[in-house]
Amino acid sequence: MTPTPFSLSGRTALITGGGSGIGLATAKCLAACGAKVILAGRREKELNDAVAEIGRSAVAQVMDVTDTASLPGLAESLKAAHGPIGILINNAGINAKKAFVDTTEEDLLRIFQTNVVGGLALTRALHPQLKASGTGSVMFISSMAALFGIPWVSAYSISKSALTGAVRTLAIEFGPDKIRVNAVAPGWIDTAMSRKAFESDPQRKQKILSRTPLGELGDTSDIGWSVAYLCSPAAKFITGTIVPVDGGVSIGF
Ligand code: NDP
Repeated sequence: MTPTPFSLSGRTALITGGGSGIGLATAKCLAACGAKVILAGRREKELNDAVAEIGRSAVAQVMDVTDTASLPGLAESLKAAHGPIGILINNAGINAKKAFVDTTEEDLLRIFQTNVVGGLALTRALHPQLKASGTGSVMFISSMAALFGIPWVSAYSISKSALTGAVRTLAIEFGPDKIRVNAVAPGWIDTAMSRKAFESDPQRKQKILSRTPLGELGDTSDIGWSVAYLCSPAAKFITGTIVPVDGGVSIGF
């Protein structure tokens, strides 16, 4: 069978936060497109369970993106164990639901350390491998909170907005290295966390659905397939962009 430009066969991808939610769904989509996937996160059991779900094309790597000093060594040991990494999915992220006036400097720095600084440090550590691959791809998982205002998540929103600058700057700096840098901005996605929130606030769900042109919540695989496409040769002329994957919720009112 002729390989399609959507194939990721022969590529190795590192997915931070690959043990759960959007990261796990993305790992499954990349694996289905032929990639070898390295699922990274802090909880070993979660990662091992996820690897068991995906099968032979997946491996687990316990790591903490906020431990930035360890990342250059980790990049080298991953290369030695699994070959060079050509795709990096910076998905690990945390949130805090608080009014801005109650959000402390510590909250802001903690969220920045995971959502921004960690992913950037990992990108820097993997740059030589991404460059050597000749078709490197870096993806950030942003959020609709970087596209429009949402109350009570100021630190999260500010951190995801910072990724917009990172995507554009890195796309230009890495262009000569043939490394593409993009982000997807998920809208409201059907996850364990959102289901729990809607149980206690069904009106909120109705409000969201009424403002979503496609009239439904997204599935984690909607994000995964978008990421798989953006990492594939089919998207080889796309860099420096933030793609909303949100059922149209960000296009207007
Ligand atoms: P999850 O909580 O399921 O995923 C977050 C993942 O990040 C976990 O697997 C966690 O693993 C990992 N993680 C957190 N901190 C670290 C760290 N310091 N080092 C390594 N890994 C870490 O939530 P989602 O799947 O929903 O979120 C994934 C991404 O999608 C996030 O960036 C989030 O902001 C974004 N997003 C989600 C939306 C949604 O509706 N769910 C909407 C918009 C954006 P562990 O704890 O084992 O380290």
